[in-house]
Amino acid sequence: MATETSVLTGLEPPAFWGHFEALTRIARPSRHEEPVIEHVRQWAGEHGFELRQDEGRNLVIHVPATAGRENTPTVTLQGHLDMVCERDPASPNDPAEGRIVLVRDGDWLTADGTTLGADDGVAIAAMMALVEDASLRHGPLELLMTVAEEVGLEGANALDPALVGGSILVNLDSEEDGKLTVGCAGSTDTWIHVDAPREPAVDGAVTLAVTVSGGKGGHSGSGIALGHSNADKVLGRALRETSEQVPFRLVSFAGGKSRNAIPRDAEAVCSVAAGDEEAFRNAIAASAETIRDAFATTDPGLSIVVSAADAPEAPWTAEATARLLDAVALVPTGPLAMSQDFDDLVETSTSLGEALTEGDRLTLHSLSRSSNDSALPEVIATLDAAARLAGGELEVKVNYGGWRPNLDSPALAAAQEAYERLFGEPPIVTAVHAGLETTVIGSKVHGLDMLSFGPQIEFPHSPDERVGIPTVERFWQLLVALVDELSGPGR
Ligand SMILES: [Zn+2]
Repeated sequence: MATETSVLTGLEPPAFWGHFEALTRIARPSRHEEPVIEHVRQWAGEHGFELRQDEGRNLVIHVPATAGRENTPTVTLQGHLDMVCERDPASPNDPAEGRIVLVRDGDWLTADGTTLGADDGVAIAAMMALVEDASLRHGPLELLMTVAEEVGLEGANALDPALVGGSILVNLDSEEDGKLTVGCAGSTDTWIHVDAPREPAVDGAVTLAVTVSGGKGGHSGSGIALGHSNADKVLGRALRETSEQVPFRLVSFAGGKSRNAIPRDAEAVCSVAAGDEEAFRNAIAASAETIRDAFATTDPGLSIVVSAADAPEAPWTAEATARLLDAVALVPTGPLAMSQDFDDLVETSTSLGEALTEGDRLTLHSLSRSSNDSALPEVIATLDAAARLAGGELEVKVNYGGWRPNLDSPALAAAQEAYERLFGEPPIVTAVHAGLETTVIGSKVHGLDMLSFGPQIEFPHSPDERVGIPTVERFWQLLVALVDELSGPGR
């Protein structure tokens, strides 16, 4: 398959880039993968490969072994068909409509004004190119292509385990060149709900908004150890410190847009006696100075400001205000334990992702993660205790358990050998503090030996997404060598 876009001319391997390019012209937002499913179905038909689909719409394509490798273990290669379709508002391009314009920037490939879809288009393109190439050697392969990965691993959660017949699963959805991933974190969502009484504001009270912005935020799993400020926690702290000097009552408290991201923006509306306005503003400013200093290195742009506001409803009582601020203070956020297996890797963390005011209720939504399933109950117990002390209750949703590293994995040993032979140095073996589909698939298909790797992909899920072109070639070489190794003599 030759490429048609000049930016891809000359890139290796051409068959991979041809498939990758074809995917940039096919819409594949999560839950709306039908066009790309059709594309794969047609391709499988042309090559005479058997394709099966489960109720969850995941695909598996059966590829026979090359000559002489028929009796080796079946290897399942796995990636997801969907992509996050983000775009700059002004861009004429839109991945949700199959309009991605490729741009080459030195050693990087990116897209003009949109996400690129290298996450996880590289997996789909690599699988297709690999099994088309008659010069390569491999045992029986299954190409497992899941849907709706980017919306909470929905496709993997719906996977019919009967679809997977392999004993080794190689996931192609990791984003760091030079690393073999052998573990990931499980996650649990929690919501602290506190219902608290309101009463009318005192006569002549002024309404003021305290707004936090300018923090760097980031992914609440892989970025949790970077020390970035959490806007909800910053806001809670500024208000608590102020409340020790100036009485006020909360009208609302809200911040954060996603469970998955560290909040960058938060705002509280407060009702303050007219005579206390200046003292309130001064106390917030003094607290802001200390907080800004605490985050001077990690979040130099952090801002905490007071402005006039409207009160949509009566403030909470003074007692309720104190209780709600206590709840915000008690919710832990940040890394809680480091991995014993790998340097600099967080094992357990929790992140307050969203604060929400609805009527008399304040809700604090956290996402807690751990690669050690036995560590999470204590984190959830802490959140439960915080909820109870605040007079509220905790709602819990366990998403999936962690993928615990197995450093004795034969597939890992084969990949390490292949890597070292190809590149003359050992790979870094690690885990990620985020979710991977392997953890869900591994919980359904028992005894699977699993491993994950991929090329260097930066700023995924944003219009800055880019993939390192030389790292794609390394990714390809490793994949080719690994399927050969796993079906070689003695396997
Ligand atoms: Zn992905």
